Parts: sequence; C-alpha cells; structure tokens
Amino acid sequence: MGWKLLQKLSSKLTFITLLCTFLLIQSRVRENNQIEKCNYYINVIHYEDKESSSNRILEINDKRIRTVNGITDNFWIRNKKILKSGESIILIPKEYYNEEKNSLNILDESLLTIENNASISSSGNTMTMGKKKVLAIRANAIDTSTSMDIKTTENRIFGKKNSLKSQYMKCSSKQLKLSPYKGISKTGVAIQNGVGEITININVKGKRSDYVDDAMVDAASKKYGNLSAQFDHVIFCMPPGTGDWLAYANINSWKSVYNDKWCDNLSTLQHEIGHNLNLGHSGEGNSAYGYYMYGDESCPMGFGSYNTHLSEDGIDRPRCFNGAKSWQLGW
Ligand SMILES: [Zn+2]
Repeated sequence: MGWKLLQKLSSKLTFITLLCTFLLIQSRVRENNQIEKCNYYINVIHYEDKESSSNRILEINDKRIRTVNGITDNFWIRNKKILKSGESIILIPKEYYNEEKNSLNILDESLLTIENNASISSSGNTMTMGKKKVLAIRANAIDTSTSMDIKTTENRIFGKKNSLKSQYMKCSSKQLKLSPYKGISKTGVAIQNGVGEITININVKGKRSDYVDDAMVDAASKKYGNLSAQFDHVIFCMPPGTGDWLAYANINSWKSVYNDKWCDNLSTLQHEIGHNLNLGHSGEGNSAYGYYMYGDESCPMGFGSYNTHLSEDGIDRPRCFNGAKSWQLGW
C-alpha cells in the first residue's frame, strides 16, 4: 500500500471519527435540551373569614408542581409584563423536573424561556362564548367522601333552574353554555351527565387541601386521561376536612376546586368559573367593607357573591356580572 493511499485513508478515518463524535455530542445536547412545558397560572383561594390570596403556580400535565426551587424573585419581576395566567408556558429543561417528587429544581434560570399562546378552549372557540364541555368530579376517600351525591351535583351544576349552567346562560344572554360532558373519555370510560366519581386511597380529614388536590387530579387523570385536553372546565368537589377555605380557581384556566359543601353553592360556583374565564375581583378598593377586594356588591366577582350565598329562606340568589365584567367577557 502506498504512503499516499495510507494518508488518504487515515484522513478519511479521522474525518469519520470527528463526524461521529460531533453527532454523538449533538444527540447528547438534544437529549439534555429536552424540555418540559409548564403552564403558568395565578391561583386565587378564598376563605370563610379572611381575605382571599393569590399565588403563582406551575402545572405540568395538569398537575400542580409541589415544590419549585431555584427561580429567583428577579425572574418573576423581570418577566412580570410577559407572564399571563393561562397563556404563558415556561419551557424548562427536562432534567430539572422530578416527576416522582413532583418538584422542579432549577439549576440555571437563564435557561428558562417563556412562550405565550392566546387561550383557546378545548372546544376550539373563545373561552367565554359557545358550548363548553364541563366535568364535575366527586371523590370517595378512605375516611370520608364528598357530601353531594352524583344526582345533587348534576342538578346544582347543570339543572334547568338555579344551576351554574342556567345562571351563565342567563348572564351571557345564552352565549355561554356550560354543558355536561356526555360520552366516552380518552381512556374509554363512559361519563354520564357531566359528573364523574373517583376513588382516592388517602385519608382526607386534617390534611392540606393541596395534598388532596394532588390525589384527586392523579386519580381523575388516570381514570379519564388528560383533563385539560378533554374538558373546558373541571370542577373538583373535595371531600370535607381540609380546613376553612371555601374554594379556589386558576385564572384563565380549566380548573376550580371546592371545599365539599361549597360545591353546592351557586354563587361560589359562578365566582370560581368567573376566575376560569379570566375575571378578577370587582370593586377593589371600596373601604366601606372589610373585604377591600370585593367592594362591588352588585357583582358575583365582588362582595355580591358572598353576602347572598344563603339568604334567610335558604335560597341562593346569585347576580349577574357588572358592566365592566360583562364587557370583558364580550357579552
Ligand atoms: Zn375570587
């Protein structure tokens, strides 16, 4: 074999080795660059005897991330104008997410990117118009169960009178129809009249609501498949025993959660679904009330929803949204 041929072969070999190394590195980089999509939401929680509070939360595959480490205040301040509840997705390197522990450990926050997508309901139209698919879920735990049975839940949420559906039909001049989901879920489970039932293998009494929330979302996702992809609104009626909160919801989102009997309260349902439709509180700043945030008595997003929840005759008398809110909803 001639010297030149050997040289040629050797340089080819070097080239191939280099190419392989390059491709290997590339695939490693791609592997490391795999991203997790976190949905960004503002969660508003309401209590019986104190003001509501809001927190920012992140969800991956419909599940709220339990602990988030390594995102500085600076990140939230810097991106304050970009981040929008229900529209923003934070892209996070996959290795920062521990699914088992349900935690995020951000080692380098400069690797996080934010994408904004205008919210479109899973029915394909805007959030506040048209027919929506709604699923309410009650749960049986080891030590207790949601007080309302399936039939009561069905009536309160979808009944002809005094229901969440009838109230929104009235307030939107029939433009928003919160319809019970009827059909077969992605996992092949039949859902009748928009109410589902799950079993959670935990004790609820004395536990934190977010712990029970986790268990409910897990069980519901396992039974029905991805929730946000199939339903416009999922209403979780949590079994009793987790403290003095009433209800909470994510702004511009599919999810609202009720502390047992509050799932049977029309004003509360209307208020939380209002948050799902991207509404904030009404009448903020009216100091005539202890509840500064809810100063507007005329609106279910204000004080109106709390002083009417059960009048003397025991009938809930909810109101329709004020002018500003109706304008925001496009009604
Ligand atoms: Zn609220």
